[in-house]
Amino acid sequence: MAQKKLAILGGGESGVGAALLGKAKGFSVFLSDKGLLQEKYRQVLEKEGIPYEEGDHTPELILDADEVVKSPGIPDKVPLVQELSKKGIPVLSEIELAARYTDAQLIAITGSNGKTTTTLLTYHLLKQAGFSVGLAGNIGDSFARQVIEERHDYYVLELSSFQLDNMYGFRANVAVLLNITPDHLDRYEYDFQKYVNSKFRIIQNQTEADDFIYFTENEPIMAELSKREVPARQWPISLSQVMEEGGYLQQGTLRVQSHGQVLEQPMEELPIKGPHNAINAMAAVLVAQSVGVAPEQIRQGLLSFQNAPHRLEPVATIHGVSYINDSKATNVDSVYYALGSFDSPIILIAGGVDKGNDYSQIEPQVRQKVKGLIALGTATDKLTSYFQDTVPAVYKTQDIQDALNKAYEWAVPGDVVLLSPACASFDLFRNYEDRGQKFREAVEQLKPRQS
Ligand code: ADP
Repeated sequence: MAQKKLAILGGGESGVGAALLGKAKGFSVFLSDKGLLQEKYRQVLEKEGIPYEEGDHTPELILDADEVVKSPGIPDKVPLVQELSKKGIPVLSEIELAARYTDAQLIAITGSNGKTTTTLLTYHLLKQAGFSVGLAGNIGDSFARQVIEERHDYYVLELSSFQLDNMYGFRANVAVLLNITPDHLDRYEYDFQKYVNSKFRIIQNQTEADDFIYFTENEPIMAELSKREVPARQWPISLSQVMEEGGYLQQGTLRVQSHGQVLEQPMEELPIKGPHNAINAMAAVLVAQSVGVAPEQIRQGLLSFQNAPHRLEPVATIHGVSYINDSKATNVDSVYYALGSFDSPIILIAGGVDKGNDYSQIEPQVRQKVKGLIALGTATDKLTSYFQDTVPAVYKTQDIQDALNKAYEWAVPGDVVLLSPACASFDLFRNYEDRGQKFREAVEQLKPRQS
């Protein structure tokens, strides 16, 4: 039988992982990247003798493949991808490919916000309870590379809509859907329903033997669920209603009940704060219960969890003022939850590249809590004009140190200075991590004034 041909578009972590898996499973593999490869990936391909090209795609070498793995960063509208679909050549995500080659139980987590936090927490709950568990998807080492050797009984996968778009046969044993709010609409022809459909691929192929965990106070999720038959067992999460089965928050205590287990845990003991993190924590606990982590282990895991940086991360307290780095808040919904996490007066540092933001969602909270808005970025007119009559003081700057100096000047003990931008960072920073790091450095500069 002729060797099957696998072409790979994009030579990042997922593409190179897919190339290695393809080779290990007997495909003839060719990898093509329109940009330049990182040196570490070039070395892997060289060492494994996997043919590749960079700087351009050669269509003939791709259009004769039996299957193509496409990096989630490449939009469907690029001509080569269009050509593939015209020729009927299947275009898969790395996750779809990898899932064919593992018998591990798959836990798949998606949502517009909260994916990373929930994925890391779920992983932590299983790992510290002694489960054999891997972490993959939008995070860490590629899933494909990890399944070359069958190493784990479970994988926790963070999945973006772009990965889900090219998944067809994948079946999650446990699926988590945190929320759906407008984001990335440029990749969905500005059709919100298409984005919803993409997120709902998280439950495709599920059976009665599987679990589906979701947040109920998200209108797009509930609207879509009312149109569908869902075979999986459903575990709803709520912040406002009692859920006999599932999770809810009552007077600051998480109550999570499923699979014959009950967990009650005061939120204030947890290292992660805010109502959004109550949702994330309940989702992770429901997963842990579904795979049989013991209640005491779950509790210990919740208490010992350390989240990834730049997500409502306390950076310092200076003169009784807390400085919080929420640089990862690149859309309005995450700022909504950030504002909801504090009762104290807030000096909000926001702005950057606006992705078509509608600020009405945060208007009531801004009116109630924000005593000063510092607009950081090259194009902040939309933000400042929206809030100029809502907030007592507005200041514009393009320099993060200047922003922090102004916040320092305005703040009194008990206030919170919150970087939660609602925007992408590419005007002044390399990425959200860089923005968070520069925020941290600028806060450090305020410290000598402490004495
Ligand atoms: P993602 O991986 O989906 O981008 P993160 O866990 O990195 O999610 O969090 C991104 C931002 O969204 C952070 O600013 C965080 O405070 C906020 N956030 C986290 N969880 C939620 C949630 N369940 N709902 C809304 N916003 C959230």
